[in-house]
Amino acid sequence: MLPLDTVREFVLDRCPARTPVSVPVAHALGLVTASEIISSEAIPQFANTAMDGFAVRSADVVDAPCDLRVVETIAAGHAPQVTVGPGEASRIMTGATIPPGADAVVMVERTSIVSDGPACGDGAAEIVRVEVSVPPGNHVRPVGDDLHAGTHVFAVGTELTAGHLGVLCSLGMTEVEVFPRLRVGVLSTGDELVDDGSPLRPGQIRDSNRRTLLALAHRADVVPVDLGLSPDDPDEIETAITTGVQTCDAIVTSGGVSMGDFDYVKAVLDRIGDMRWMQVAIKPAKPLAFGTVGDVPVFGLPGNPVSSMVSFELFARPGLRSMMGHPDPVRPTVMATAAEDLPRRADGKTHFMRVLATPRDGGVEVRSAGGQGSHMLWAMAKANALAVVPDGDGVRAGAPVDVLLLD
Ligand code: AMP
Ligand code: MG
Repeated sequence: MLPLDTVREFVLDRCPARTPVSVPVAHALGLVTASEIISSEAIPQFANTAMDGFAVRSADVVDAPCDLRVVETIAAGHAPQVTVGPGEASRIMTGATIPPGADAVVMVERTSIVSDGPACGDGAAEIVRVEVSVPPGNHVRPVGDDLHAGTHVFAVGTELTAGHLGVLCSLGMTEVEVFPRLRVGVLSTGDELVDDGSPLRPGQIRDSNRRTLLALAHRADVVPVDLGLSPDDPDEIETAITTGVQTCDAIVTSGGVSMGDFDYVKAVLDRIGDMRWMQVAIKPAKPLAFGTVGDVPVFGLPGNPVSSMVSFELFARPGLRSMMGHPDPVRPTVMATAAEDLPRRADGKTHFMRVLATPRDGGVEVRSAGGQGSHMLWAMAKANALAVVPDGDGVRAGAPVDVLLLD
């Protein structure tokens, strides 16, 4: 058996980042920047108010309360037309430009109208009482308060989140250079599999892996491509994979990589690609057939439902993320405390136990999510983390344990 890290390094070495492309910002969520983002303009580009209120000359309100003549109402999106002179103020709405002459804003809650001006006149007769004195710059957002022009905003290798996309839009960018989103084909293999909801004949089971792996692919920010279901027939598996590599950047299969008589996926990959069949010192998900067909990586994951998910998490997800330019494609572990015994037997493998992780006293505690068999998908579905339990007889309640937090 090979250590997990050795196998993962082998996989990552064969999953280099793809050639960068320019994509619309609207399509860039979850992608990774391939060039540095440098701001071409300041944000904000003009000094504006952080509050609804009155733009004033701070020198005028030193001895507040004091009364000022309202000379204009300035809405967001409209340029001020009037300079605020001594003894004057302009009513101003959040985000509107600070008018010339004014250097501070008094929030509307600290003012009162003492004399109404004409309903739609020039406001000359309107008088506002300012109840507090404010320093220069009060509630004013100066030019470049968020970002100056020429700022190194995001480094190469930044995963674009909702907030990042907002910054790109603020900078007026409509396209961004990123590593392309992968199309990832998912194929189930097995004579026993049925996927149409029809009554099961003896020995048949329903295909659960394909839906799950397509969903995991989606969560990994790739485009999932359903390659269907193939029986345990080498020719049909080969056709499915060779068809898949024509339209996909990577392929994930489940089943057919163990020691059974009809485990043809590894044989097919050996025939059409450069394949390594590996026994990894982990449980679940010991067997892995990883190969490249042309330059398309194929992840031959084991068929047991929990094994396929854990194998996706440990090998396929990091490989796909590496291809999409993530500098740290492997999910980090966090230190948690076992809230109950997590028993296991020594077998030379690292066990990835399905657990529920919850916050507790500033840390994280974990307890078993249920049955730990590699066919027991229910507990995997309920788990939000995998506890990394090293070889031995398990982790005692109260002891520390590393965990991988899942999505
Ligand atoms: P295999 O890796 O092909 O030896 O399959 C191991 C176990 O996983 C067997 O019990 C299979 O019936 C089961 N299995 C394989 N593929 C799937 C699938 N797509 N959905 C649910 N179970 C599966
Ligand atoms: Mg099988």
